[in-house]
Amino acid sequence: MGRKQVTFKVFRFDPEKDKRPYFKKYLVPVGGNVLTVLDGLYYIQQRLDGSLAFRSSCRAGVCGSCAMHINGKYRLACNTPISSLNSRKIVLRPLGHLEILRDLVVNLDPFWKKYELIKPYLMPGSPPPEKEWSQSPDDRARVDILIDCILCACCYSSCTVTLTDKNYLGPAALLQMNRFVQDSRDGEIKERLLIVNGDDGAWRCHTMFNCQVVCPKNLNPSGSIADLKRKLVTLNM
Ligand code: SF4
Repeated sequence: MGRKQVTFKVFRFDPEKDKRPYFKKYLVPVGGNVLTVLDGLYYIQQRLDGSLAFRSSCRAGVCGSCAMHINGKYRLACNTPISSLNSRKIVLRPLGHLEILRDLVVNLDPFWKKYELIKPYLMPGSPPPEKEWSQSPDDRARVDILIDCILCACCYSSCTVTLTDKNYLGPAALLQMNRFVQDSRDGEIKERLLIVNGDDGAWRCHTMFNCQVVCPKNLNPSGSIADLKRKLVTLNM
């Protein structure tokens, strides 16, 4: 018996050749080595159309490279089983609010620049100890889940504020900021909070929870932004 076939309707655009974007359909047999949306994309690229461009790396939901819009929601292609979509048609678009470099590949520079702005590294604010910075299990537990962010940008693309305000730091950068603010080893909380206290920081969030709905790691950037707002109102600036 032949395998079930699913239609992949894929966003295509090569700015050097195409006047405007279009969708191209491919019939993909599901089963065997083709189980996830990412498997389907590799099937297309390797057997049907070598010109299709997309990003991927770890194929295990860890690197965040294959984030895209899949049947109406931002997700990782590698950890989206085709069967979970319950559809014979899979519509794929690139991440939103970002320049399209080609097909499903976007320019993530604005996303990374905002990540850089939050200083994503520990700033202990005191000389290093003789051995190492230690942390109690309870203190570690406070940042445990926040460390799971893989910077896939699903939340960034789903956020309506990043669409309208190009300078807004966005949910991922603000969640990462909260990760360092909550870390008992960091000693520059005031400096950090000043970074997110401006018009383009935490106060710009409309708390719509789109970011939470799409996060493949089940994180809650809106909750992190609320944590930052609470810190801001109680901190003596
Ligand atoms: Fe991706 Fe979630 Fe991190 Fe946003 S918070 S970048 S959706 S892992």
